[in-house]
Amino acid sequence: MKKTLSNLKIVYKYGKEYKSCLIYELIGSIFGIIINIVLPIITAYQLVYLTNNKWYQLIIMTVIVLGLNFISTLKTVLIRKNTQKFTVGISEKLQKLLGSEILKISQTDLDSKSTGVFVQRMTSDVEDLSYIFTIGFGRLVGIISSIGVFISVLIINRFVFIYYIFVTVILTKIHLLKSKKYIIKDKQRRKQQEVVTGLTTELVRGTRDIKMLNAKDSFLKVLNNNIKNKNKLNIDMRNIDIFYNFIIENLTGIFECLLILLFIYLVYTNNLSVPMAVALYSYRSKVMSNFMENISMLIDEVNGFNLSFERVFSILNNKIFEKEKFGKKTLNKINGDFEFNDVVFSYDNSNIVLNKMNFKVKANETVAFVGKSGSGKTTIFNLLCKMYNVNSGSITIDNININELDEDSIRGNITIISQNPYIFNMSFIDNMKLVKEDVTIEEVKEACTLACLSDYIESLPNKYDTIVGEGGVNLSGGQRQRLAIARALIQKNEIILFDEATSALDNETQSEIKMAIDNLKGEYTILIVAHRLSTVIDSDKIFVVDNGCIVDSGTHKELLNRCEVYKNLYNKDLKI
Ligand code: ADP
Repeated sequence: MKKTLSNLKIVYKYGKEYKSCLIYELIGSIFGIIINIVLPIITAYQLVYLTNNKWYQLIIMTVIVLGLNFISTLKTVLIRKNTQKFTVGISEKLQKLLGSEILKISQTDLDSKSTGVFVQRMTSDVEDLSYIFTIGFGRLVGIISSIGVFISVLIINRFVFIYYIFVTVILTKIHLLKSKKYIIKDKQRRKQQEVVTGLTTELVRGTRDIKMLNAKDSFLKVLNNNIKNKNKLNIDMRNIDIFYNFIIENLTGIFECLLILLFIYLVYTNNLSVPMAVALYSYRSKVMSNFMENISMLIDEVNGFNLSFERVFSILNNKIFEKEKFGKKTLNKINGDFEFNDVVFSYDNSNIVLNKMNFKVKANETVAFVGKSGSGKTTIFNLLCKMYNVNSGSITIDNININELDEDSIRGNITIISQNPYIFNMSFIDNMKLVKEDVTIEEVKEACTLACLSDYIESLPNKYDTIVGEGGVNLSGGQRQRLAIARALIQKNEIILFDEATSALDNETQSEIKMAIDNLKGEYTILIVAHRLSTVIDSDKIFVVDNGCIVDSGTHKELLNRCEVYKNLYNKDLKI
């Protein structure tokens, strides 16, 4: 209870600016409670007037009943319209916040979780959090309304009151039993739903690869199994519902029969008048079924709310998920010098990927990292952008440890061009505007010329306004990389990290990319992860990476003369 209240307080803060909507709801609800209590009593009076032939009073009472019913429905419509603002306001704020917090989660934690974990929390969990203020509030009002009815019953007849209490206790106990079982399954269902959402995202994003790998059947098998498991949990929940509803409905039937017998006895012994018996009978659904139904539903909703709260706020409050940490120092424009000093790094804290790595790159140099696949080249880039933190040793940019620098100073000055850069489903020019809002067409043309892409774009009917397709699907791998190079040129970041594409690119495309990089040389610090030595032999310096260490460095000629590892790599490369 205490936990729920404190959770409610926290969530309420996000919708505080719409609190007037809740106040309207409160006023309307109090009005609703009064109507619920008064209506059966008025009905009883109608019966008294009818049996005594008091037609005038009967008409007035009937008009009052119709009026109250109309006001009651009107109030519901007006309030619902208002409370929507409150729930939508809360969802919107929390979703925005979650979006920005997810982007702050450390890459290690993101790597280990499926997309579903985050999608689910940003969508259905956030909605559950806000609904407690409308649906949950409605239930609370229902419960209070039933309590009001209980009091009226007590005033009218204490025997009926005791009976109603007895029935309510039994039915509520059964509902509580149901809730207990329900919440366990609900927890499992939400976890399973996360897995399904994650797989569905992968299905959509990875369609191409799934098709190319001819892995449709096996992927669908995994997806279907998980959907089956999720549906089984849904069915389990429904079965719990069906079983307990069966018991509750039958018991309610029995209790109603007993109630009628009680009324007959009370009327027969002159302990109750017939009109009051009718009024008390019309209260029965309010106290017997509505009361415990509202209690158990409210318990379910509160449990659901607390579950969603835990899941959403574990992201917002840095619980479970570790956030990226940055320093406070700001470097507006960097020179582009950087250094790795005795860097030791492991992705999983057991397999060492970089082992006391040392190297230094001077501003405006073009250097290449060569080595076997899996030797740790791409990891160097990941660490330089602080996607992961080193286990020991240090990385400096312009002689400042990157742990002391703020996010903008690092990522705002470094551009990574990965093997498969993400290109947005917009026109060429709009892709450029993403990195510089006020970019001019001249700047774009210049960048695309340097990136050896302008000839291709100019050959298209819509030129720079051509839409490139989601993820740049309408472009080849080489064109995507060159577009990313052009984007980097627009960004004008001092350090460009280039993860050269593997043999997937043909020789002509490779040489165009090489030409694009050559156009940048001297003005930027360029680091290239080379998968083909032929493209980097004229770099200022080549670092040979082996087993997470730099085993040698120098120019192509120097290395060819003295470095066995390099010689082997070069000879292998020639054979391809
Ligand atoms: P290279 O670029 O030289 O081919 P990488 O730097 O990509 O090599 O990888 C070095 C080692 O780190 C490999 O053994 C690879 O399996 C492992 N590795 C790469 N990325 C991750 C990751 N996100 N989580 C765990 N291990 C990883």
